[in-house]
Amino acid sequence: MHILIIGGGAAGMSAASKARRNDKNAEITVVESGNFVSYAQCGIPYYLSGKVSDPMNLIHYPVEEFRVKRNINVKTETYVKSVDTTEHTVTLHDNTAIHYDRLIIATGTRAKRLDFSIPDRVHSVRTLDEAIQIKRDLSGHQMGILGDGVLGLELASEFAEKDWEVTLFSKHERILPRVDPAVIIHMSKDLSKKIRIIHFNSINFKRGDSDKPTIVADRDEYCMDQLMVAIGTLPNTEFLKNSKIDMDAEGRIIVNERMETSVENVYAAGDCAISINRIDGQLQWNPLAQVANKMGRVAGSNASGKRMDFKGSVGTTLVKILDYEVGYCGFSEIEAKKRGFDPESKTVSGWSRAKYYSGGSEIIVKIVYDKTTLRLLGGEICSKDNGAWRLNALETAVYSGMTTEELFYNDLGYTPPFGPVWDPIIICASLSLRD
Ligand SMILES: Cc1cc2nc3c(=O)[nH]c(=O)nc-3n(C[C@H](O)[C@H](O)[C@H](O)COP(=O)(O)OP(=O)(O)OC[C@H]3O[C@@H](n4cnc5c(N)ncnc54)[C@H](O)[C@@H]3O)c2cc1C
Repeated sequence: MHILIIGGGAAGMSAASKARRNDKNAEITVVESGNFVSYAQCGIPYYLSGKVSDPMNLIHYPVEEFRVKRNINVKTETYVKSVDTTEHTVTLHDNTAIHYDRLIIATGTRAKRLDFSIPDRVHSVRTLDEAIQIKRDLSGHQMGILGDGVLGLELASEFAEKDWEVTLFSKHERILPRVDPAVIIHMSKDLSKKIRIIHFNSINFKRGDSDKPTIVADRDEYCMDQLMVAIGTLPNTEFLKNSKIDMDAEGRIIVNERMETSVENVYAAGDCAISINRIDGQLQWNPLAQVANKMGRVAGSNASGKRMDFKGSVGTTLVKILDYEVGYCGFSEIEAKKRGFDPESKTVSGWSRAKYYSGGSEIIVKIVYDKTTLRLLGGEICSKDNGAWRLNALETAVYSGMTTEELFYNDLGYTPPFGPVWDPIIICASLSLRD
């Protein structure tokens, strides 16, 4: 049995490791186009800002761990250019072909790029190879960030904390549009004191003095030393064009709960695949690290003969912006409506610790739930203190399908340094029961 895995990131290496644990005798090969496998992409913003000084600290396990201890044949700097699912072969960049019995595709995504490029000054980051190159190129202290999503804000925050002059360009009326502005009101105000935020309708790019990237946003020009582009990602699936594997309109591979694709013995996992949402069982793309790891493990298990089912995700997203802990899970009201729910929401502003205990901060909590059934559909949180654990508590409630009444009775631990006796989450749930 030869299990071949394309992509050595979170999903690919989780798949390989699980397959090895299940089957000591299988031949397992991982083919990775970059120089590194098994590393923390999520740590890249902190490497770029200097909080993580050595990129090698982002590597979870060295390649040798997989090759020697786990008996997994890892081929780095090896690019798969096509897959033939009839012949059960993949073709590599040098035209050699590898036969497989089971194939797992875990090729992730790549950053969307602009047509405009200036080497050493305009960057998009996805892989550790790219991050190392960008870090070498960073010069000056004026940073432009194009994109107002989680990655754009994370990067803006990191460079602002280094006292770079940061300008963030947003095509929306407000930053982080997935989150209710009332939830991030204080964070947004504090952020705009530290960085310049430009909202634009139209944008153009040109080379300025000394070849510096210059953005023309509506009519105004902004020249900077460096420009980071964080405008989303595209799945790495072009090489599957003639493979008969079903994909959605965006090129993401459609999988079932076992990570099986439409072609027998071919699995897909991680960001290149679209799987299911926990709340309504419908397809949803959740390009997140822990989701990729779990999808990979499920794919590796099924490919090596032990059934495992992925239970879905609620897309829990957490980010540190300046000293704020910001996050969301499940559906916003807009998404919930699109999916046929009749959503209602409650938002409360509370305190993160007992008021008399030092070090607390305001915390804003929002819950979204179905008006008729009171089933929780989503949540959002923002606070400088104890926000992350509360998001995870809320996520657990959303994930397990609790109603707002069950959330109200949920037995959260209490002690003054971590929360008030009536926790803002519980107050939020109680408001939904008053209508
Ligand atoms: C800067 C940054 C910060 C992030 N922060 C967070 C965070 O805080 N929290 C969170 O949950 N998620 C975060 N993410 C997202 C998270 O890292 C991804 O969801 C996760 O890495 C996806 O894992 P994956 O295995 O599907 O893809 P990847 O880790 O991207 O691995 C795919 C691998 O496949 C290789 N490959 C692609 N095509 C081929 C081919 N044709 N042949 C051979 N190899 C190929 C690629 O080189 C790559 O190494 C972040 C991502 C980035 C870039």
